[in-house]
Amino acid sequence: MTIYNLGSINIDHVYRLAALPKAGETLHSRGLSLGMGGKGSNQSIAAARAGAQVVHLGAVGQADDWVIDRLRQAGVQTDRIARRTDQPTGHAIILVDQDAENCIVIHGGANTALPDELVTRDMARIGPGDILLIQNETNLQAEAAAQARAAGATVIYSAAPFQIEALRAVLPHVSILAVNEGEARETFATFGEDLPVQGLLITRGAQGAEYRDLTTGTRHHQPAFPVQAQDTTGAGDCFAGWFAAGLSRGEDAPTALRHAAAAAALQVTRPGAGDAMPDRAEVMAFLS
Ligand code: ATP
Repeated sequence: MTIYNLGSINIDHVYRLAALPKAGETLHSRGLSLGMGGKGSNQSIAAARAGAQVVHLGAVGQADDWVIDRLRQAGVQTDRIARRTDQPTGHAIILVDQDAENCIVIHGGANTALPDELVTRDMARIGPGDILLIQNETNLQAEAAAQARAAGATVIYSAAPFQIEALRAVLPHVSILAVNEGEARETFATFGEDLPVQGLLITRGAQGAEYRDLTTGTRHHQPAFPVQAQDTTGAGDCFAGWFAAGLSRGEDAPTALRHAAAAAALQVTRPGAGDAMPDRAEVMAFLS
């Protein structure tokens, strides 16, 4: 059982400032840290650290080998990551002031110029039992989802950053829709609660998460584990990656939910997004 993840790879540049700049102002940064971000790479790292076999389908610019090394070190298969000579690696410029307020600019770069071969060639062997993960930070989601579903794989779609037209295009091919509370509200407002999917995963931050099996009408609620949160960036990706990894191991929904909630609880106690994903041993120790 393999998880294919057609997803973004971003470098997060986090600048610490006394105050956020006003229009026309130039400020000196108090510090810079670089880290792994992007919903795609976050979910690949989370699922690989959970113990799943993960193939990342994505693209980076020319000179960012460390990003690929970081994914590989987490256990992600990186040989299907394309190099774009004409695009920079996707990145986020994140300004954080002393009260932890932030402003973020994302440049999609290579993430929004994924070559067709990632779907037509590199997903050729996807089949029943495999999982395709997709999010909303790349091109080719609808094509990949249609191909994976036709091959009998399970398609899990994190509909973020939320865009109703992207959801409309992908929804007919989705097996499990993963949304946070705000995204769930927007989805229901347009499509109603009786969605044409098998499962619906709704995460609600410190309020926990819920999985609705729409084929049986069963609902599973998973409370969040109480922790001192430090940085919740990527919590939803951690949850989605661990939940997908659980399903790929044949876990039932309540077990996959419990492991994902424990992983996300650990993730929010650490700074960073992709770099903060816990591994299986840490999650099992947390739960014991
Ligand atoms: P992000 O956009 O920051 O990745 P999200 O909005 O997609 O987050 P959330 O619903 O905020 O995702 O969080 C996902 C899961 O992470 C929650 O269901 C919960 O299990 C866990 N989590 C988030 N915040 C906390 C917290 N403060 N304490 C414990 N667990 C948390």
